[in-house]
Amino acid sequence: MNKKQKLLVVEDEDDIRELIAFNLEMSNMEVFKAKNGEEAIEIAEREYPDIIILDVMLPGIDGFEVCRYLKKNVATRDVPIIMLTARAEDTDVVKGLEIGADDYITKPFSPRILIARVHAAMRRKNETGTEPAAQRHFKIHDIIIDLPRHEVFARGEFVNLSATEFAILKFLASNPGWVFSRSQIIDAVKGGNYPVTPRSVDVQILGIRKKLGSQGRFIETVRGVGYRIQAE
Ligand code: CA
Repeated sequence: MNKKQKLLVVEDEDDIRELIAFNLEMSNMEVFKAKNGEEAIEIAEREYPDIIILDVMLPGIDGFEVCRYLKKNVATRDVPIIMLTARAEDTDVVKGLEIGADDYITKPFSPRILIARVHAAMRRKNETGTEPAAQRHFKIHDIIIDLPRHEVFARGEFVNLSATEFAILKFLASNPGWVFSRSQIIDAVKGGNYPVTPRSVDVQILGIRKKLGSQGRFIETVRGVGYRIQAE
């Protein structure tokens, strides 16, 4: 028989904590509950859960502090953390990802979404082993690129990029300061839904710059060569 996965849910609101606990027990997990940040840290260090669902708004030390602490601690840093945020507040989401949270769910949420996200986080953990969260989202200038979710935030604001735009930005951002020709960019992003031509690379770059707002200036044209994202 498979060992039950351990889940820690941290939430001071009884109704929400019990709802989460109930649903995850039903999906055959062993659930530990904490009402505040101090309890959360104590249980995390004692039980070494497989996953943590962590509310941002807690009395005393808040969810961000708990996340920061657990992600610094060698014993707990590889435990996936899903943050619960009260609203779809981009700033909360960005802050959570910056300090190492693996995913987030905004309230109100349905149990179905919750369970799906928990399973997705477990799957990622099993696939990537102990790959730190830092390798799954990275920051350059004031741009955050969240690789598993294919999401980008510029100056804390969500940026709605197409799949091709995302692929180009990710490619440039993974090698800051390096200049890539249009054909290198095409090679890096092919596999998209339509053929990318040198001319369409220019169009995509224009689109990315525009959508990134003030951060767009960091994507530079190198005349006669191609494009690069400015190194920090
Ligand atoms: Ca709360």
